[in-house]
Amino acid sequence: MAILPYGRQTIEDDDIAAVVEALKGDFLTTGPTVEAFETAFAETVGARHAVACANGTAALHLAMLALKVQPGEAVIAPSITFLATANCARYVDAEVVFADVDPDSGLMTPETLAQALERVGERKLRAVLPVHLRGDAVNLPELATLAGDAGAVLVEDAPHALGTTMSYGNVAERVGDVRHSAMATFSFHPVKTIATGEGGMVTTNDPALAERLRMMRTHGMVRPEGADPWWYEMPEPGFNYRLPDILCALGLSQLAKLPRFAARRRALAKAYDEALAPLAPAVRIATRPAWSDPVLHLMCVLIDFEAAGTTRRAVVEALRERGVGTQVHYIPVHRQPYYRDRYGELELPGAEAWYARCLSLPLYPGMADGDVAHVAESLREVLGL
Ligand SMILES: *Cc1c(COP(=O)(O)O)cnc(C)c1O
Repeated sequence: MAILPYGRQTIEDDDIAAVVEALKGDFLTTGPTVEAFETAFAETVGARHAVACANGTAALHLAMLALKVQPGEAVIAPSITFLATANCARYVDAEVVFADVDPDSGLMTPETLAQALERVGERKLRAVLPVHLRGDAVNLPELATLAGDAGAVLVEDAPHALGTTMSYGNVAERVGDVRHSAMATFSFHPVKTIATGEGGMVTTNDPALAERLRMMRTHGMVRPEGADPWWYEMPEPGFNYRLPDILCALGLSQLAKLPRFAARRRALAKAYDEALAPLAPAVRIATRPAWSDPVLHLMCVLIDFEAAGTTRRAVVEALRERGVGTQVHYIPVHRQPYYRDRYGELELPGAEAWYARCLSLPLYPGMADGDVAHVAESLREVLGL
């Protein structure tokens, strides 16, 4: 039986043609398509600068390097996220302070950030990394105020939220326009909203940060204006975090489809809202903040497995037998052996409550109309509702 995965890329003939075209060109890596992709991406999200890089993890690392985060300084990351959100702080020898999340939305909130700020201690706090989990936007204005008062900036880890819009007041904003943050990072891993295989992007409105991102992406090299044509200088060692021309060609082709992908994801999410409503209260969709109008990357539901007389493992396996793939987003990062060893046992009850109940159901543009009903019906059967 074919399994509906929890996420999947949509690659079409013209995407393939765009890659073939790039392969026939003069540049396989640093070529004109890199800049074309960056320009189109910046325009799409409403940012002044976009810097393409190897993947979403490299994007986070570059953000830490651009801010010159120093060893021993502190970075706050939520515990419910992918490993990379926390790991990027360790790449620059900074210490991670884990923030709790709201148990029903999975998001860092002003309350959970305020609690984390109390745990920073004597360290200098440099950055707070909220995650727009599954595609729903966090409360950026309030998080930015709290971070700013503590002497830090926001870096949005936004791989889930390409296309998400929000309105905190009367103004419509876009994830990635970085009105409240120093930078936002994106990933083009195949399950994300657009795919390049591996790929990432950082957006910023600050030209100095953009320049540092570009420098650290390419070995820390700079070419002073008016210098000899072969000349380059390295003020500090950077990395090879470039995104090749070939993948930028794929990214450009995919980005042009974002309106269609987004519309399809919104339609599928709406179909889930309706199909899952009769399964409440045993199955609830993750809480949507009032300001958020998401393009969902993940369809996260919360299930009280114990109350349903079952376990998540049994549900996952029974769904799989019915052709429904699922995933858990995420195991709390503070529970990872590395972080346990480093910071001891932390009590983050919101993260634990989210983790105990969360399950991500299939969501991707290539799903057929009937798939949502099949997933909902399978869930109803499996939970004996
Ligand atoms: C996917 C993802 C990353 C890492 O992106 P890669 O491209 O896989 O390196 C980081 N943070 C979050 C929240 C992600 O979903």
